[in-house]
Amino acid sequence: MPRDEIQGTKLWCPNCQHETICRGVSPSEVGQPSNKQRGVHKKYPDIRVFRRGRICQTCNHKFITAELPVDFVIELGKLRDQLGKINELSTS
Ligand SMILES: [Zn+2]
Repeated sequence: MPRDEIQGTKLWCPNCQHETICRGVSPSEVGQPSNKQRGVHKKYPDIRVFRRGRICQTCNHKFITAELPVDFVIELGKLRDQLGKINELSTS
């Protein structure tokens, strides 16, 4: 991911709907408790995330990103595909 040393990292801004420079900030700057930066989900204790506050330098939108192991992201994609096939079968 290209990184602008002065302003932040180029990321997908959910408000702009394209890649923009987003500054990394403490979660507390975007309304989340800062002590929740590292953690596990109560319902899914095997999922460990690192949360980071982001502020889009184009539109000033504040949001949270979560860093996850890439294998987990690939697993989520496969599960989404499987669920789509199940839904297709159940409606045909
Ligand atoms: Zn934006």
